Amino acid sequence: MSKRQGPPKHQNSFAWKPNLGQKINETEPGGRFRPLSAITGVCQRCKDQIDWKRRYGKYKPIVEPAKCQKCGKRNVRQAYHNVCTACSKDLGICSKCCTHVKELVGRDASEEEKERKALEEVWSCYVLKEIFVSLQRNLFLLC
Ligand SMILES: [Zn+2]
Ligand SMILES: [Zn+2]
Repeated sequence: MSKRQGPPKHQNSFAWKPNLGQKINETEPGGRFRPLSAITGVCQRCKDQIDWKRRYGKYKPIVEPAKCQKCGKRNVRQAYHNVCTACSKDLGICSKCCTHVKELVGRDASEEEKERKALEEVWSCYVLKEIFVSLQRNLFLLC
């Protein structure tokens, strides 16, 4: 009785990793300790492009704020963006390719915070109501 020797189980089942064998400094932007910030204020196409760069290790994080092509202020804080957040919002354009878009990817952190708080409020109201209803039911049973 001998065990049959087949091919290795996980042959070729792993995805190709561009950074394989390359030592990644985890404290560098994009490393484990400094995750890259969300891509916001761009159209879907530009987001995909930046995403692609990140995934294939071609992404160059921004080192200092860049000049906005609309207002001229050094206000651009995201890599590959040409327009600052305020201008892209005011004009309704993509921060990267400057085309007018209805939907920009991602939102301001402040907007997200507001939404989160509103959701939390709704949720806590709901929980309170549930408790109240069950209390009422228990009282009714006791009477
Ligand atoms: Zn601007
Ligand atoms: Zn764009």
